[in-house]
Amino acid sequence: MTFLKEEVEHFVHPPIGGTYTVATQTHTFDIEAVRGDFPLIMREALRKPPLSYLDNAASTQKPQTVIDALSNFYSQDYANIHRGVHFLSQRATDLYDKARETVRRFLNARESAECIFLRGATEGVNLVANCYAKPLLCRPGANIVITTMEHHADIVPWQLAMEDTGAQLRVVPIDGRGVLDEEAFEKLVDENTVIVGLSYVSNVLGTVNPAERLIAAAHAKGVPVLLDAAQAAPHVALDVQQLGCDLLVISGHKIYGPTGIGILYGRREILEKMPPWQGGGDMILHVSFAGTTYKGIPDRFEAGTPHIAGAMGIAAAMNYIERIGIGAIAAHEHELLEYANAAVTDIAQLRVIGTAPGKAGVLSFVIDGVHPHDIGTFLDADGVAIRAGHHCAEPLMKHLGLPGTARASFGMYNTFEEIDRFAASIRKIVKFFL
Ligand code: PLP
Repeated sequence: MTFLKEEVEHFVHPPIGGTYTVATQTHTFDIEAVRGDFPLIMREALRKPPLSYLDNAASTQKPQTVIDALSNFYSQDYANIHRGVHFLSQRATDLYDKARETVRRFLNARESAECIFLRGATEGVNLVANCYAKPLLCRPGANIVITTMEHHADIVPWQLAMEDTGAQLRVVPIDGRGVLDEEAFEKLVDENTVIVGLSYVSNVLGTVNPAERLIAAAHAKGVPVLLDAAQAAPHVALDVQQLGCDLLVISGHKIYGPTGIGILYGRREILEKMPPWQGGGDMILHVSFAGTTYKGIPDRFEAGTPHIAGAMGIAAAMNYIERIGIGAIAAHEHELLEYANAAVTDIAQLRVIGTAPGKAGVLSFVIDGVHPHDIGTFLDADGVAIRAGHHCAEPLMKHLGLPGTARASFGMYNTFEEIDRFAASIRKIVKFFL
């Protein structure tokens, strides 16, 4: 399918609370060209049955440009950074700095020093929980506010930080569609709240939270917000300045980049307050046996040799997303979601979990009488890759009264034909089991 320029320019998601619109783009979107950029997608489309890769919320496939960025770095530019006086080391350092600048542009951060390279979103939340919440914020009577739809990565680090501090976790409820209760949010965030952990897009429900408004509400009470944008980054234009967020985390592998690399964005004022995360090489000014002084941001939080090639890869992924256009990608995924919803709507035994208006390209569902793992296994036999289970959101599953769900999640290279194969396989399951 090809979107005409005008279609993409005029594409706007259905409003959710009036705050979420996809940035308008002037890109054309050529699905065949996009698919051609992904070697695994092209190869697996030839097998019998062809692969329908609908597990993008777990991880995305990689375009050739990302694979090349990793390969070129190792084959042509490789050396350790920040250490050598020799030519290669200096060039690798320059490339690493350039990658950080790409991240800054992708997030619209004020300065690249506010973008820390880490292993992923999980490590980002752990860093903030350990270096900010635990030593500087948690105290008896304090609370940390999260939501019912958080991924374990935005629950467990806070629990670890609060241990033995007397601080407590507060959880904002959601309604039957998976929409956050904003009134409850406003009440739960109070003068004793020290930080809010909020997912921008739910990995299970696809709900897109009105991040800008919620952040403004927290700020009105003087409370900083960490935005978990792991699921938002592949679908929504991120602008940390417009969002007003204090801290934000993303993972490379969910935005068509490598595993083992992600970003913690933090406002300079906050990052500078935080003690180091890990100690070691490259994060110090001076070391003596009597004591150590530390570098400023971002180096202070990047002890040891980082995933340098990963930085090349995530920058290439960001460049690629910018080239295709996040608005065009979001528009395509929205069409896929609508199509998938329509394809299964007449299956009486199938219940969609998460029906928030304007949701992202995630279709969680259950089939009464069939375990999600059986759905996943059955679909796999038909060449359809989905995820089944609790999706690292056990408290949400408990709230929903479900052991798990089956989840199809869409990426930029998915097609209507792949969804046809998914829907046909679901119909076979219903016939077989029920
Ligand atoms: N937050 C959300 C909403 C996620 O979906 C995920 C991964 O699925 C994470 C955080 C953790 O990401 P990672 O495992 O890449 O650290």
